[in-house]
Amino acid sequence: MLLSTMQDEPLSLATVLRYGSTFHSEAEVSTWTGSELRRMSYGEVGRQAARLANALEALGVGEGDRVATFMWNNNEHLVAYAAVPAMGAVLHTLNIRLFPEQLIFVANHAEDKVVIVDGTLIPLLGKYLPSLKTVRHVIVANGDASALEAPAGVEVHDYTQLLDEQEDTFTWPDIDERAAAAACYTSGTTGDPKGVMYSHRSMWLHSAQVTATNGMALSDADHTLAIVPMFHAMSWGLPHAALMCGASLIMPDRFLQPEPIAKILATEKPTFAAAVPTVWIGLLAHLDANPQDISHLRNVVVGGSAVPPSLMHAFKDRYNVDILHAWGMTETSPLGSVAWAPAGTTGEEEWSYRYSQGRFPVGVQARLVDDGGSVVANDGEALGELQVRGPWITGSYYSPDGGEVDPDKFDDGWLRTGDVGKITPKGYLTLVDRSKDVIKSGGEWISSVDLENIVMSHPAVAEAAVIGVPDEKWDERPLVSVVLRPDATADAEELRDFLTDKIAKWQLPERWTFIDEVPKTSVGKFDKKVLRAKYGEGSLDVKTLG
Ligand code: AMP
Repeated sequence: MLLSTMQDEPLSLATVLRYGSTFHSEAEVSTWTGSELRRMSYGEVGRQAARLANALEALGVGEGDRVATFMWNNNEHLVAYAAVPAMGAVLHTLNIRLFPEQLIFVANHAEDKVVIVDGTLIPLLGKYLPSLKTVRHVIVANGDASALEAPAGVEVHDYTQLLDEQEDTFTWPDIDERAAAAACYTSGTTGDPKGVMYSHRSMWLHSAQVTATNGMALSDADHTLAIVPMFHAMSWGLPHAALMCGASLIMPDRFLQPEPIAKILATEKPTFAAAVPTVWIGLLAHLDANPQDISHLRNVVVGGSAVPPSLMHAFKDRYNVDILHAWGMTETSPLGSVAWAPAGTTGEEEWSYRYSQGRFPVGVQARLVDDGGSVVANDGEALGELQVRGPWITGSYYSPDGGEVDPDKFDDGWLRTGDVGKITPKGYLTLVDRSKDVIKSGGEWISSVDLENIVMSHPAVAEAAVIGVPDEKWDERPLVSVVLRPDATADAEELRDFLTDKIAKWQLPERWTFIDEVPKTSVGKFDKKVLRAKYGEGSLDVKTLG
């Protein structure tokens, strides 16, 4: 090999912090308090990060130690995002909405030493704290530290007081780019959550992709409303990407309902926002009842589950806002594919690209594998399980003792996503389902996502979730759970009639149920396992059409 002449400068998040807090020192992160914003410049983020790093070091946090956050999206959470990896420790973002036993599992599994908690979340953390075996320090931000009763062996600190005692400079160490920078556990629907450890290198490259024009095209022109939680897949990479490019961040803290989100939009007029589809479905209903101009949003990134085309059209036609569909997973940092239509496409052709899960960027290689383990063609038609690999895709799950966790999720260096779809020759992905959600009716597949999208395009429908249920004749048939819009009416016959000219006759669902709300996972996705359990125990009122 002929070696290059280039410098071996590691891709470290310390450089991102140094860069953002100096060259973009005027950009701001700000947090909604319910009526206004608390603002902090990136210059101040740099100083606060140095204080936090000094404080953590004084508490005994060293290289590779895990520092957990149990926080909403806010200024202090950004400071932790900036400081913890840059000092060589590992930021572990705890999902505040996990079931108690899962939360306890992940904190113990990651061996978290310190937890930074928001004051409003003290009652929740207080319940778990006695079960967190490795935690020695809890730092309370935005609240009253004396409200937390600590078990023996755990010291409680006030964030402001602790940071006030520190110097506002820190000598950020040289870091091996392969070292762990942050940890996030999958929200796993079955079994224990699995840990993904992002490296400095993976986060650096991923953040750069977030700013790329075929990524999220985030730039210093953006005021970015980061609704997607910092405890879910690193808020889709927005925090470090913002420091990298000087985009300002607006953090909603605990004000995540449609009404306060609409208020933040009205007051701050962000240019950019990111959240899962259910947030936008809720916001749309609110805006339709209380119209306001939101055309200041030049880009709204939506992913985490499939975006119904009807939602995209509603935002475009009624509010002149473009939704950018994206696909990803905790395991993929998460940006996997983004649905920018190819330049020059217009009309229906453009929309067809925008409905898809999008095109893979150069950093994500993808292939489809069929049930027999053979790779199928990227011809835009053949279906298979999506497998991916690349510098920001995990190659394994974290194991404290080095043993293998769920090796079946990996196939010869590729991550098995569990998603089923097709890929065009030009690299556009269309997902039809999760492999466990696809409905096998008489040997043929029915896509639950397709059915949901069509039912949700009916004007009376707010949300629709489809699961497969056992059927004597066909093995499985779809059951549609429908949430109607407030004051709207529609019955099963009408909805089935609406579907007749949109899907094949044999796919038309016979089973329908009307519910008040689709159960959601800890990160706001439709929770089909809860619907399956309800169906199993007979607690859904199902109407079967002849
Ligand atoms: P999580 O790691 O919790 O973010 O979940 C990742 C999973 O969410 C993926 O494997 C997909 O099943 C699903 N997902 C994410 N984005 C999309 C999307 N745009 N369309 C359909 N499913 C998605």
